[in-house]
Amino acid sequence: MAEVSGALSRDIVVVGASVAGLHAAHAVAKMGRGLSVMVIGERVRPRYNLPLADRTGLTGPTDLDSTTLRALSQLGSQGVDLRLGARASELDLANQRILVGNGSVSYRALVIACGCAPTIPALLTEESRVYTVGQREEVSALRAVLADPSLAVAVIGAGLAGGETASRLRRAGRTVSLVDGSPEPMGRFGAVAVNSYAALHHRAGVEPCFGDGVVEVVKDGLRRRLRLSSGTLVPADVIVIADGHRPATEWLESSGLALRDGIVCDAGLQAYNHVFAAGDAARWSNPRYGTRMRGEQWTNAADQGRIAGLNAARSITRGAPDSYAGIPYRRSYQHGVRIQLTGFLNGDERVVTQRTGEGEVALFGRENVLHGALAFEHQYLFDEVRAMLTDGVAWDAALAHVGAAVSTGRVPARSGPRLHDIGIRNAICHDVLP
Ligand SMILES: Cc1cc2nc3c(=O)[nH]c(=O)nc-3n(C[C@H](O)[C@H](O)[C@H](O)COP(=O)(O)OP(=O)(O)OC[C@H]3O[C@@H](n4cnc5c(N)ncnc54)[C@H](O)[C@@H]3O)c2cc1C
Repeated sequence: MAEVSGALSRDIVVVGASVAGLHAAHAVAKMGRGLSVMVIGERVRPRYNLPLADRTGLTGPTDLDSTTLRALSQLGSQGVDLRLGARASELDLANQRILVGNGSVSYRALVIACGCAPTIPALLTEESRVYTVGQREEVSALRAVLADPSLAVAVIGAGLAGGETASRLRRAGRTVSLVDGSPEPMGRFGAVAVNSYAALHHRAGVEPCFGDGVVEVVKDGLRRRLRLSSGTLVPADVIVIADGHRPATEWLESSGLALRDGIVCDAGLQAYNHVFAAGDAARWSNPRYGTRMRGEQWTNAADQGRIAGLNAARSITRGAPDSYAGIPYRRSYQHGVRIQLTGFLNGDERVVTQRTGEGEVALFGRENVLHGALAFEHQYLFDEVRAMLTDGVAWDAALAHVGAAVSTGRVPARSGPRLHDIGIRNAICHDVLP
C-alpha cells in the first residue's frame, strides 16, 4: 500500500491503475519530457490479465498471483510514482487538486481512468454467495465456493463476460443458467446474434433465459432458486452477476464535471481545462461517428489511455492534441467458439448473414455504409470485414467482396489495406503495455 499524506504536487496525476490509467502513465513517461507522473489506484492488484483461453480465471489452473498486469513493475522503473491502495475521494477543479486519503495532490494535468464498477440488483444485495466478475478478489472467492460441484450456478447478464463465465463453468461440469432481462443481450447486434448465441449455449448444456428478468428469490433449506418474470424457476445456489457495470464516477459528483453515464469529453478526451478521461469511464465524442459514446473494451481503454496521457502532457507543453476515432471491438471464446463483434450500430441496420462450414459472419449496414460485423468463428472473413470497416468501404462493395470470398472459398484481392497493415491489435491476450 502506498497511501498519500500531506499536500503533494505532480505535473500529471492519473486516477485509476488499470488498462487506461497505466497506458496513460506509460505514454507520458515514454515522451521523455521530464514530467513527473503519479498514478493513484484504489486496488493494490488492479484488473488481472488472463490468457484468452480462460479470461474468467474461474476454473483453470491459472495462478492468480501471476496475472497482475506486468506493466505495474515496468512503470515503477520508469520513474512513475505508483500509489496503489489509495482512493481519490474528491476533485477540486478550481484549485487543480485531488483529495486522496488524508492528503491531497495538485496537478498541472489530470487523467481520469476510473473505469466501471459492478452493481448488484437490489433483490440480491442481502443474499449470500453472490459474486461479481472481473476483479481478482471476487474470482478467488468464487473459485473457493465452486470447489463444491453440487452447487448450481445462475449467471445474471448474458453479454460477453456473462456468456464466457457460463461457458467456463459448464465446461467444468457445473449446472448453469444464463439469465438476462433483455430479449437481445447482445445489444444492437439484434436477433441474428441472439439466435446463434442462445443456440450455442443451449447446445452446450447452459440454459439460456433471455428476456426473462429475476423477480423473486425462492429458498428451500440450503438450496436457492430464482423466479423469473415468466414464472420459470432457475437453480441458483451460487449467483454470478455479470451485468450492470456503471462508470465509477460517484467521487466526481460534486466536482462540476459533466457526468452522463460517464465523464463527458470531447474528441481529444478533454473534459475540462487540463482534465482528460480515458477508458470505460469516458463518454467521448467519437469523430468517426459524430456522436458521444462510451466503450467497454480493452483496446479502447488502452488506446484512449495513451491518447489522454499524451494530450494531458501536451496541455502543459502547449502541443496540439490528438483526437480518438476508435471502432468498437470485442471478442470472446465460449464453448470452444470464437465470437467477435465490431462497429457501432443504431439497431436499425440492414443485416446480411453468410454461413459456411467455417462459421457465420453477419454484416450490418445502412445507406450504403458498412457499420459493423459479428462473427461466430470464420476468422479470415471477419478480419476482412474489420479491415473494410476501418477503411470505410461502401456496403455494396463489402457485400460483393464477402460474397465472392464465400463462393470461391478464397479472399479476392482488394485495393485497401489488410487488417495487419492497419495494425489493429488483438483485444485482450496481451499485457497492458507493448
Ligand atoms: C469479466 C470481464 C470480462 C471482460 N472481457 C473483455 C474482453 O473479452 N474484451 C475486451 O476488450 N474487454 C473486456 N472487458 C472489459 C475490459 O476489461 C475493460 O474495458 C477495461 O478493463 C477498462 O479499463 P479501464 O482502465 O478503463 O477501467 P478498469 O479496468 O475498470 O480500471 C479502473 C481502475 O480504477 C480504479 N478506481 C476507480 N475509482 C477510483 C478512485 N476514485 N481512486 C483510485 N482508483 C480508482 C479501480 O479500482 C480500477 O482498478 C471485460 C471486463 C470484465 C469485467
